[in-house]
Amino acid sequence: MRVLLLGGTAEGRALAKTLHPDVDVISSLAGRVPDPALPVGEVRIGGFGGVDGLKSWLREHDIDAVVDATHPFAATMTAHAAQACKELRINHLVLARPPWDHGAATVVTSDSEAAKAVAAQRYERIFLTTGRSGTSAFVGSDAWFLIRAVTEPDVHALPRNHQLLLSRGPYDYDSEIAIMREHRIDALVTKNSGGDMTKAKLDAAVALDIPVVMVDRPPLPKDVHKADTVEQAADWVARQA
Ligand code: NAP
Repeated sequence: MRVLLLGGTAEGRALAKTLHPDVDVISSLAGRVPDPALPVGEVRIGGFGGVDGLKSWLREHDIDAVVDATHPFAATMTAHAAQACKELRINHLVLARPPWDHGAATVVTSDSEAAKAVAAQRYERIFLTTGRSGTSAFVGSDAWFLIRAVTEPDVHALPRNHQLLLSRGPYDYDSEIAIMREHRIDALVTKNSGGDMTKAKLDAAVALDIPVVMVDRPPLPKDVHKADTVEQAADWVARQA
């Protein structure tokens, strides 16, 4: 049996490690970040060319099952994989870590809604952690932003007043507290990514009484099989053999 594992996440790497070498797994990365953390086993890098490109690739590589372990906000890849697998009748699973509890956060459905919430509340010093692609919604804002991302956003996608912090998680509670204090942050903007690697910022915001604006996850495609954990996904793969 051959499995395509759509990755780019810690869960994708953990699942590859669990399955390798007993299962023939090819992990796939988008190729967005330089020097990505590589999963064990075979890896391919780069887009497939939409649904049609993915269907051709799945056929050419004799894939029997697809596990989509992409980030919960990688909605395009997830939609393409669901559609391609449905059309080719290939078994398909989405591995998605559980979302964070919203707590007292202001929940919004997009980056532009988050920008509106920031403006409405007149926040002035914002810790913006929605990633490289999440900054453009804030371009028109007069507030100051501490922008944390893995890779540098496009210069035209940056708000006037900002400082860039290029880094990759995991982050711990003490350093998140220190960052928010040092920069006198008065609001945190985050996606509901879920997982432990970047959760400390939420705990730090609660401890410092800093309001949170949280972008909710895009919905999953209809009728997909879903696993919350790497263990559940590994069990599912074992049942496909
Ligand atoms: P996206 O918007 O859903 O996907 C855009 C296009 O990128 C897809 O149509 C596909 O191109 C290609 N692609 C995405 N993931 C791929 C993969 N694992 N293997 C091969 N091609 C892939 O994705 P995104 O939000 O830009 O995320 C890109 C990658 O970064 C994903 O692997 C994701 O797991 C990881 N990541 C994303 C986030 C986030 O917040 N979005 C955070 C951490 C990690 P084609 O149409 O050409 O096939």
